[in-house]
Amino acid sequence: MSLTICDLPSPNHDERPGPVDTLILHYTGMKTAQAAIDRLRDPEAQVSSHYVVDEDGAVLRLVPEDRRAWHAGVSYWRGQAALNGRSIGIEIVNPGHEFGYRDFPVLQLASVCDLCLAILSRHAIPHRNIIAHSDVAPDRKEDPGERFDWEGLARNGVGVWPFDVPDLGTGSAVRDAGGLHPVRAALAEIGYRVAPEGALDPGLATVLRAFQRHWRPEAVTGQADAGTLVRLQGVLRLVRAR
Ligand SMILES: [Zn+2]
Repeated sequence: MSLTICDLPSPNHDERPGPVDTLILHYTGMKTAQAAIDRLRDPEAQVSSHYVVDEDGAVLRLVPEDRRAWHAGVSYWRGQAALNGRSIGIEIVNPGHEFGYRDFPVLQLASVCDLCLAILSRHAIPHRNIIAHSDVAPDRKEDPGERFDWEGLARNGVGVWPFDVPDLGTGSAVRDAGGLHPVRAALAEIGYRVAPEGALDPGLATVLRAFQRHWRPEAVTGQADAGTLVRLQGVLRLVRAR
């Protein structure tokens, strides 16, 4: 692991209320890396992240890990809200869905992976708490999105991925409340904020899309289809084992 980190401090941080147990990945979602970095360092913007990883793999540190950076906003995961206090945030340079979403270069992914491994060596972060901004704020955020290689990251020892699950395609979606009860329960056990009962409503579709962006990127449909359900069960088995 040869990771060079350049310090480019941001003033946008404050005291942490407690230990770190969550790692949240983002994309910058701006036209250029420079625009994103400028914003993350602008005292008026009131946003920041601990790290930025550029498309060429360069890693910038904006906020020390022992300080609270302001990257996640209103957020929820596994019963916890306001995740900035307990998380480290990595912004991965990509224009995002708004400005021409594109693949993440291999060099960039390699740096993200090395950076995550280094962070994991310093904090007690369970793999199931290595998540997307869209996982913790599914109604507001889509980042880092379905082009991000969570599977590749997990192959290198970062995060959770159900490798042994077959691809069942998008057929036969469940839509009724009875059929969706175990789906809602599984999403909640993994960590999402989701109502325990009900047929397929906009709130559940939004959470299903967040799950799919992370664990079923081939088809982000908002439907509880066969391929999604088998991945959901696969992820559930893994998080129960950890
Ligand atoms: Zn974000």
